[in-house]
Amino acid sequence: MLFLTPKISLPIPHPPQMSNKGNYVASLSQFTRWLAGVAENKYGVEIYPGFAGTQLLLSDEPDSTNPWGNKFRSVQGVITNEVGLTKNYRMKSSFEPGMAFRAKVTLLAEGAHGSLSKQAIILHNPRKEAEPQTYGIGLKEVWRVDPEKHKPGEVVHMLEWPLDKDTYGGGWVYHMDGGLVSLGLVIGLDYKNPWLSPDCEFQRMKHHPYFRALLTFPKAERLSYAARVLNEGGLQSVPKLNFPGGALVGFSAGFVNIAKIKGTHNAMKSGILAAKAAWNAVHPSEAESSDGTVAAAADMSSSWVQKDLHEVRNLRPSFGTRLWLWGGIIYSGIDSLILKGRVLWTFKHHGPKGKTKNPDSTSSLDSSLTEPAGNHMPIEYPPFEAPWLRITFKTNLVCVMSDILTSLSSIASELDSELTVIAVFHGKSTHLLLRTTN
Ligand SMILES: Cc1cc2nc3c(=O)[nH]c(=O)nc-3n(C[C@H](O)[C@H](O)[C@H](O)COP(=O)(O)OP(=O)(O)OC[C@H]3O[C@@H](n4cnc5c(N)ncnc54)[C@H](O)[C@@H]3O)c2cc1C
Repeated sequence: MLFLTPKISLPIPHPPQMSNKGNYVASLSQFTRWLAGVAENKYGVEIYPGFAGTQLLLSDEPDSTNPWGNKFRSVQGVITNEVGLTKNYRMKSSFEPGMAFRAKVTLLAEGAHGSLSKQAIILHNPRKEAEPQTYGIGLKEVWRVDPEKHKPGEVVHMLEWPLDKDTYGGGWVYHMDGGLVSLGLVIGLDYKNPWLSPDCEFQRMKHHPYFRALLTFPKAERLSYAARVLNEGGLQSVPKLNFPGGALVGFSAGFVNIAKIKGTHNAMKSGILAAKAAWNAVHPSEAESSDGTVAAAADMSSSWVQKDLHEVRNLRPSFGTRLWLWGGIIYSGIDSLILKGRVLWTFKHHGPKGKTKNPDSTSSLDSSLTEPAGNHMPIEYPPFEAPWLRITFKTNLVCVMSDILTSLSSIASELDSELTVIAVFHGKSTHLLLRTTN
C-alpha cells in the first residue's frame, strides 16, 4: 500500500483485509465470458446478450403482502427492451418489440443501481429498515506497459493524493497477465466540493511520478476506459433481499466489501444461495416452503457473506466523522487490526445536519453532502493532452490526461453507433447521461 503526496509515494502497512497473497488477478469480463460458455453449453442456460430488462412483469391483481402488511403485486418476470429504433425512437426495418419472460422466480443481479431493482425497491420498499445506500464512482483504465515495468500479480493500493482530506477514495494498480495493467480510482460520491470532477481526479492521478514511470511512452498505451458506480453502504444498507416472485443479489443487494474494494466473491455466493432458494421455490415438493418466495434472506444471514460484511461495517462510515480522513484512517486501522468488527456498535451513514434518512427508498444522501460552489475554490486540473500530440511529435508525453469524450469514444463503439452523449447540469453537480437507441 502506498501513501501518495503530489510528488512522493510512501509504502505504508496495509490492513489485513487488503492483503492479496494467494489471490489471482483476473479479468472479470474474460471470466464471465468463459462462465457464460459453460452455462450455455453444459447446462443449457439461455443467455440474451444485448437485451436489457426494462420493466418488471407484475401480477394483474395485488396478490401478496409485504412484511409491513401492505398488499401489492408480485413479480412474475421481466420485459426486455425494444431493439431497432433510431435515436428519435422511430422504428427501423430491424425493429423488434420487447419480449416478455414469465418466471416463477426473478433474481435481479443488475449491478449497484439497476433500473429493475429500483422498480422492485419502489414497489416493495425493502429498504424501509435499512440505512440509506451510499455510492462511489470507480474510474478505470487498462494499459499495456513496458515489459520491463510489468510485474504480473503485483497489487498496489493507494491512499490520499490526488484527493483532498474531505474526499473518500483511493487508487489501485493491478498487474494482469499479458503485459496489461489495470489502474483506477474510486471516489465516494459524498464529496463536498462541487468543483471536483471524478474523471479529472483520475486523469490527474496519472501525473504522479509513480504513474509517469509506469506509463511512459512509447512502450505504454491506453487500451480501454470505463467508469462504474459501486455501492459503499455495506451491511447496514443491505435491504430485505427477497420479495414475492424474486430477490436481489450481488451488487443489486449491496454486497460489496468496500474496505477490500471487492465484491465478486459475495456476488457469486449470493447468486448461488439465491439459485438454490429459487430451486426450492419452484420445486415445492422438495422444499419446506412453497409460497414462491425466495428464502435468500434467511440463507444469507448464516453465510460467510454476512461475516465478511459484518467485520468491516464500521470502516466506511468512520470516514464521515468531523475528523474525516484522519479520523477514518485511525479508526479503520484500530478496527481492522485489533477489533475486527467485534464491537457492540454499528455506525450510521452520515448525512447533512438533521437528515438521517433518504427522502425516498431509492435515493441516497450522498448528493445532499455536496456543498454550494461558493464555499469552495475551483480545482485547477492539468490540461488535457491530445493523443495526436505525442504521435505527431513523438514526444515523451505520457498522454495521461484524456478528456472525457475521448475516453468515452473508446466505449461508445461497443455500445451503439448512434450513441449520444449529453452533459446535464443538474443542480450543483454535473451528471453525464448516455443515451443509446436501445
Ligand atoms: C471500480 C471498481 C473496482 C472493483 N474492483 C474489484 C476487485 O478488484 N475485486 C472484486 O472482487 N470486486 C471488485 N469490484 C466489485 C465487483 O465489480 C462487484 O462486486 C461485482 O461485479 C458485482 O457483481 P454483480 O454481478 O452483482 O454486478 P455487476 O458486475 O455490476 O453485473 C451486473 C450486470 O447486469 C447488467 N445489467 C444491469 N441492468 C440490466 C438490465 N436491466 N437488463 C440486463 N442487464 C442489466 C450490467 O450491464 C452488468 O453487466 C469493483 C467494483 C468497481 C466499481
